[in-house]
Amino acid sequence: MHVLVTGGAGYIGSHAALLLLEAGHRVSVFDNLSNSSPEALKRVHQMSGSAPELFVGDLLDADRVTEVLEITKPDAVIHFGGLKAVGESVEKPITYYQNNVVGTLNLITAMESAQVKRLVFSSSATVYAESKELPLVENAQRDASNPYGRTKLHIEQILEDLAVSDPQWSIAILRYFNPVGAHPSGNIGEDPQGIPNNLMPFIAQVAVGRRNEVRVFGTDYPTYDGTGVRDYIHVMDLAQGHLDALGYLNQNTGQYVWNLGTGSGTSVLDVIGAFSRACGRQLPYELVDRRPGDIAEYYGDPTTARLELGWKAERGIEEMARDMWKWQSNNPSGYPDYDLEGIPEDELNKFIRGARESLPETK
Ligand code: NAD
Ligand code: UDP
Repeated sequence: MHVLVTGGAGYIGSHAALLLLEAGHRVSVFDNLSNSSPEALKRVHQMSGSAPELFVGDLLDADRVTEVLEITKPDAVIHFGGLKAVGESVEKPITYYQNNVVGTLNLITAMESAQVKRLVFSSSATVYAESKELPLVENAQRDASNPYGRTKLHIEQILEDLAVSDPQWSIAILRYFNPVGAHPSGNIGEDPQGIPNNLMPFIAQVAVGRRNEVRVFGTDYPTYDGTGVRDYIHVMDLAQGHLDALGYLNQNTGQYVWNLGTGSGTSVLDVIGAFSRACGRQLPYELVDRRPGDIAEYYGDPTTARLELGWKAERGIEEMARDMWKWQSNNPSGYPDYDLEGIPEDELNKFIRGARESLPETK
């Protein structure tokens, strides 16, 4: 298959691109590189032996999206492209609605005119309303609590309406729980800009000496040790879920929703413990007040994905910490910071393919 991957240079997208190439698919990536680096795609090429082709473009540029769909004529699209920082979405709601909702509208409009009607969409467990009934199942009540989550909710509804309007569409909505970890080689991984908001990347930066200590937000939650509990999912398992969903969409039209999680929760203290074992020293932490807006505990029920896709998370918290540590210790400052200003797309593709040795660095 030929798969167009929006946001394919990013954290989850680069892992999915790798698995697609390793499975023999052809991969085109559409990305504006606003939160990612061509270095990730170069490494994907080095690891898989096949190069993804990069189309630099913005989902908000409708003409460019249409053009890339027409040039590539893919069999399917996996849509990772979007902004994902909850705090930033509270400060800049219009930017988030534009980028995520309008960007998706541009994508599906272009897909429709190119007669490409197979789509896998990155949704999130954040679309679930807070519930005491755990694990969360796909038909649980939805109600996002911040603008980022609401963009995902709106997109889910748009995709549902689309599937009802035209039965030729095949659409998978994948609700991720908390993606962490990295490829076990440590060659690709998550490269957050600035101070990480999420727990695991923050711990990784403490482990590598970039930050002093982890702050544990809240110790009085009604959970097994008083700290927040989440369903962490290894990015390699998550990436595999996209391939399985694509396989399903090849056989079925309509719209489907699948939770991608492990089905069980891990506390903040247990994540710190796993990472301490992975890096070989007890990581320092401080117990502080709850973070406003956080909920005590949630984890998903992945049974539907297991029954319908044959997908199941294979890796536990120890492997998540081990692989994250491998990535962080091999790449203490993340990917090199390239100055991409004015570098044409074909030069970036030469770099990804190894035909051009380097790109100018800013640091
Ligand atoms: P990421 O930021 O690493 O990847 C997103 C990619 O999209 C980046 O490469 C970025 O440059 C690109 N992008 C953003 N806006 C774009 C635009 N307008 N046009 C073209 N490209 C654009 O994030 P990720 O963690 O890999 O997340 C991928 C998807 O999964 C996102 O949609 C995110 O909301 C969703 N998701 C992520 C998590 C998580 O915790 N990482 C959890 C649930 C859902
Ligand atoms: N958390 C923490 N310290 C941090 C970051 C997060 O204790 O520096 C806690 C947070 O309160 C939550 C869990 O870790 O219980 C996961 O938080 P994260 O931001 O990674 O994911 P989300 O809250 O979006 O599920």
